[in-house]
Amino acid sequence: MSTKHTPARIELEIQGMTCDACALHVTNALKGVAGVSEATVPGWQSGRATLAVEPAVNEAALVEAVAKAGYRAAVATRRQAAVPQQPAGNGHKRDYDLIVIGTGGGGMAAAIKAAELGYRAAIIEGGTMGGTCVNIGCVPSKTLIRAAAAYHQARQHPFKGIQTRAEGVDWTALIQHKDELVAELRQAKYVDVLAAYGDNITLLRGCARLKSDHEVALADGRVFTAGKIMLATGAKPRMLSLPGLEQVEVLTSTTAMSLTQQPESLLVIGGRAVALELGQTFARLGTKVMLLQRSSRLIPEHEPEISTALAEALCQEDLTIQTGVKPLAIREEAGQKVVTANVNGEEGEFRAEQVLMAVGRTPNTQDMGLEEIGVELDTQGFIKVNSRLATTNPNVYAVGDVTGGPNLVYVAAAAGGLAAANALNGAGQSLNLNILPEVIFTDPQVASVGLTEAEARTSGYDIKTSTLPLEYVPRALAARNTRGLIKLVADRNSDRLLGAHVLAAEGGEIIQTAALAMKFGLQYGFTLANLREMLFPYLTQVEGLKLAAQTFEKDVAQLSCCAG
Ligand SMILES: Cc1cc2nc3c(=O)[nH]c(=O)nc-3n(C[C@H](O)[C@H](O)[C@H](O)COP(=O)(O)OP(=O)(O)OC[C@H]3O[C@@H](n4cnc5c(N)ncnc54)[C@H](O)[C@@H]3O)c2cc1C
Repeated sequence: MSTKHTPARIELEIQGMTCDACALHVTNALKGVAGVSEATVPGWQSGRATLAVEPAVNEAALVEAVAKAGYRAAVATRRQAAVPQQPAGNGHKRDYDLIVIGTGGGGMAAAIKAAELGYRAAIIEGGTMGGTCVNIGCVPSKTLIRAAAAYHQARQHPFKGIQTRAEGVDWTALIQHKDELVAELRQAKYVDVLAAYGDNITLLRGCARLKSDHEVALADGRVFTAGKIMLATGAKPRMLSLPGLEQVEVLTSTTAMSLTQQPESLLVIGGRAVALELGQTFARLGTKVMLLQRSSRLIPEHEPEISTALAEALCQEDLTIQTGVKPLAIREEAGQKVVTANVNGEEGEFRAEQVLMAVGRTPNTQDMGLEEIGVELDTQGFIKVNSRLATTNPNVYAVGDVTGGPNLVYVAAAAGGLAAANALNGAGQSLNLNILPEVIFTDPQVASVGLTEAEARTSGYDIKTSTLPLEYVPRALAARNTRGLIKLVADRNSDRLLGAHVLAAEGGEIIQTAALAMKFGLQYGFTLANLREMLFPYLTQVEGLKLAAQTFEKDVAQLSCCAG
């Protein structure tokens, strides 16, 4: 197809929209301009409109139409609409250019990118719209963590002599608040956003299975065809195959966050993010919690100093931590659940009202017909992809938790957009996870980016490190909460930051600054000396990053307030 007569895609920035009706007014105003074939406002909060227009359409006419409707518009981008590639194979017209399976962060990003590039996409959901993050992952866990923190703070006020009072937890209300937030965000961020893409993204409901690398069958027998297929089916909680598990009901992160009654006691099997976040949450709400961790320390991929300090902080809150535990069997006895285990070489038994299994995730790849069409899985069932997120069948791509990568929704979303562009436009982009900030939402939070000291040494760097206890951070002192530390790992030769590892209240708010320092270090040679020269607001937690950088060459105990 010649591009001379190809429609253009225009993105407008719109100011002044304050509700759904505004989005409708703007859409209608734009659709009224001659030559506009499509106009979409993906929710008024987006502050933008995307249009497909004939090549002759004048941008000023669009801006004027929006102004007449009472809003302000400016052209953000204009480009030729992508010329949809002929579907591979026999050249027959297919139902869609892309079929995405799964409406989680990865699938949504893929479908939206396809629509933005001018392609027709379908997205299939066999379970609850929105997938893990909004329904049973990030959103419910973080709101429960916040609620538990507020309750805990009311009981454990750090300011001596200040009277505080805490009523008992109203468990039903707590779960109801959580469910309300989940429902609100699912509607606003998934259902409404998809609807705003109109015919460009078709939502299909049902459990999907691949019939070929161009055909997807739904459980009700319907079959849809597409040029390319994107698998974004996510993962579910992994269960250890313990003798007795068929008879004893144990909790997963999903069921734990929906309990109708607060357990009096809880055994948590696992020692990483989900186990720690939920373990501390239940403990703060008044459940007696014991963590059973197989390794010799919590979060074994993190700096040992951070593991140790986190374990201390949790123990101060009356969580019990037992490391070196290999569960062997489970049974029920007198209303209690009993886990027998090998504990550092000896047999041991642990019992509680409930047991939460939080030992990782297993992929949703069963019964999908993947191997039959040449999509290879690894030994744990995760889909093998290359750096451009293509599977071993070139017409099928995969993103998110189902590929076994870091289980983070922002990674799934970044992968979804990139994979859609690769699949449809042959963009050939690789997913770059070199600088990947991560947060574990315990209190104090564990936030990290880049290499640990051990990883940097293994990579062959000549390194230097600094460790700053939080008691040198004025913000932490003022809050009377000095639990934690900041550890920096740097390259001695270039003075560049290689890794930052934080254990601090709201440590997640610190880590992105370190991530930027690393990125600018790679691109522009930004150094620790540059970081020390920067102004950091007093008193903020992120000021700790500057102080940790100063710790490389000064004794911070000798510094006056804000002294450079
Ligand atoms: C308790 C918990 C807390 C978390 N906290 C955070 C956090 O704070 N920050 C963070 O970044 N990440 C967090 N995560 C991880 C994050 O939620 C996931 O990494 C992310 O949601 C994965 O997105 P996805 O698109 O790969 O898959 P999912 O969101 O799991 O979506 C997959 C979708 O595919 C559907 N599906 C599966 N099979 C089929 C089929 N055959 N046919 C049709 N549909 C199908 C499923 O129903 C599901 O809706 C957390 C996870 C958990 C469990």
